[in-house]
This record gives sequence, structure tokens and C-alpha cells, in this order.
Amino acid sequence: MSDDEKNIASDRQDDAPTALLVRAYAVAARQHAGQTRKDATKTPYINHPIQVANLLSTVAQVTDCQVLAAAVLHDVVEDTDMTLPQLAAEFGDRVAKLVAECTDDKSLPKIERKRLQIINAPHKSPEAKLIKLADKITNVSDIVSADWPVDRKMEYLTWAKQVVAGLRGINSELDAMFEEAVAHAQKGVEGQAS
Ligand code: ZN
Repeated sequence: MSDDEKNIASDRQDDAPTALLVRAYAVAARQHAGQTRKDATKTPYINHPIQVANLLSTVAQVTDCQVLAAAVLHDVVEDTDMTLPQLAAEFGDRVAKLVAECTDDKSLPKIERKRLQIINAPHKSPEAKLIKLADKITNVSDIVSADWPVDRKMEYLTWAKQVVAGLRGINSELDAMFEEAVAHAQKGVEGQAS
């Protein structure tokens, strides 16, 4: 083994932050396999959590691999068969707790889940607020091309603004990005209405 190989291998520990993050991508890809987004071109679902993590890394400058892993995994409990205990066993309690903060209680009616998101947003941890904000930015950006009636798109934008009101103040760049995304989406949806 060369010195270079030894140096690389010495970093290869199961609990290395980068190993955890790469594993998060692999598990999210496996869990979301076959799922698609709501747009007409049926974008693979995994593009969405990847975008959320990318916004945290590039815009909010997050370097904590557990937070980035939680961003990658933020929809696996809500939208796949993976459970919070499974997540905790594979990625640790902190990642599982962050994903739990981003997971709606699916036993409740949809209208109640949406109401609770508005009410609970200000009480989330700062890290969960960043993940939820990045989530809303990508959802709002995707809404124009969504396969939905215009009224439903408008309602979504109004609701997203109400949720985000409770998520602000952690990262100004991400806050500004949401404003831009929502203004752009509103313009796009209004154009579809006329
Ligand atoms: Zn999401």
C-alpha cells in the first residue's frame, strides 16, 4: 500500500462524518427509488432532498455532516417505509431527531398537518428550521411546473409563506432566497392563470 493509500484508508472509519453523509445519500436513494416529483416530466424524487442538502451547504454554508445527512433524509420517514427508530439505529439520535422535526404526523388529516406546520415552525431547532426553509425553497421553486390546478398552486404559495414566517432569522441568505423563489413562483403561476 502506498503512503497515499494509507492516508486515504486511515480516514475510512465508519463513524467519519463524510462516511455518514455518503451513507445518507445511499439510503435516501434506495428509499425514494421509483418515486417521482409532481412535475409533468416526473423528476426522480431523490433530486429534491439532494437540492435541499445542496442549499444548506452552498447557501447557508452548513458544514455539519449530521445536519446535511438529516437534510438528505428529511422525507424518508414521511414518504417511505423507513421508521424513526431505524433511522436512529443507522444514523444516530441527532440525525433521527432532526428528521422527526421535519416529519408531519400522517395519522392527522392533511388540513390539520398543514395548520400544525405553521404553528410549530417557530419552535423548531435552528438546524431543523434551516432544513425546513430549504425544503420550502425547493418546493416553491418546483410549484410552477407542478401538475396541479392554478388555484392549488396559489394556495400552496400562501401557506408556504405562513410556515416560513416561523422559520426565518437563522440564515439571512436562505431567508432572501425564499423571498426570491416565492416572488418568481407567484409571477409564473399568475402567468398560467391568464
Ligand atoms: Zn421535502
